[in-house]
Amino acid sequence: METVTYKCPNCDAGLVFSPEKQSFVCEYCRSVFSEAELEKVEQNSTAAGSPHAVPSGEEAGDAFAAHAALYTCANCGAEVVTDDTTAATQCFYCHNPVVLSGKLSGEYRPQSIVPFAVEKEEVKKRFAEFCRKKHFLRRDFRTEAQAQELAGVYLPYWLIDSRLSAKMDAEGTKIRVWKVGDTEYTETKRYHIRREGYVDFRDFSAAAFSKRTMELARGVLPFDMDKRKPFSMPYLSGFQAEKRSVERMDLQNRIHEEMAQAAGRRLDDSVHGYTTVRKDDLQTSVLQEDWNHTLLPVWLMTYRFREKLYYFAMNGQTGKICGSLPVSGPKLAALFFGVAAGIFALTLLIGGALL
Ligand SMILES: [Zn+2]
Ligand SMILES: [Zn+2]
Repeated sequence: METVTYKCPNCDAGLVFSPEKQSFVCEYCRSVFSEAELEKVEQNSTAAGSPHAVPSGEEAGDAFAAHAALYTCANCGAEVVTDDTTAATQCFYCHNPVVLSGKLSGEYRPQSIVPFAVEKEEVKKRFAEFCRKKHFLRRDFRTEAQAQELAGVYLPYWLIDSRLSAKMDAEGTKIRVWKVGDTEYTETKRYHIRREGYVDFRDFSAAAFSKRTMELARGVLPFDMDKRKPFSMPYLSGFQAEKRSVERMDLQNRIHEEMAQAAGRRLDDSVHGYTTVRKDDLQTSVLQEDWNHTLLPVWLMTYRFREKLYYFAMNGQTGKICGSLPVSGPKLAALFFGVAAGIFALTLLIGGALL
């Protein structure tokens, strides 16, 4: 649907996704369209012999390549993707200016997306609340200017659906001990245990973005993947996406290993009733798999103070918050002193009780 829904059916202006309305809005004529309505427009225009056909995978990739713009931060090297109606001006990570550095090829087109559900105004409100309770916070962190730095950033993930066949061989024993008079008898029965089966994985996820962004975003997981939509370009309007920097080839061995271990644990769990179990062999093979490049929404704000990076992050779907806050020096020293004094008093009390 990408080639068509990109433009307003009424006036041809660009469409933008609204988290509040969960719909696409024309910024020019103010029309609002649901995903279903846009699909209908698309189908009708196709039926009427419009040159726009429903894009196949390859064509959708081409459309993505035509409308996605890649920006690079000259300071920290961050690579940010947005659509060609949104001009990215500064790096969400270090706040330095970013420059348009080119286009992306169609292979970078995401297959699916979890759209933002929290509006920026709501995030600013939650940010203010988050700061209010923190008495040791540096003052300039909670200013309106700082809140303006909040950026809606889609983070790229790989979601993997797969089926593994797994076969485990083990040796088990059952030991029985009994007494007749003064004689103790021990009976040991040995068993060969085999377990075989299929293990299906759904939405096994792996981050496909930089480690340093992971530092900021780790605390806002998880996401509800069931709310995923097929990707289309207007979702990017007004938002940024970190460019996918981890490829399937980089991850495949590690993911298969993790899946094999998880499958092995499932087989282990089915073995009961033995005194001892010794695992001899586990064989797994991947029968089928589907790697899905998807974007997940996070509100991010960073703040640098004395060479250290502080941040505020919110899950753009669920509203879950995390952050590390810059605290002001003298107030913090007072806190440490208070805690130390508290522990000292406690130690004395315990000491007293022992005597
Ligand atoms: Zn319009
Ligand atoms: Zn930067």
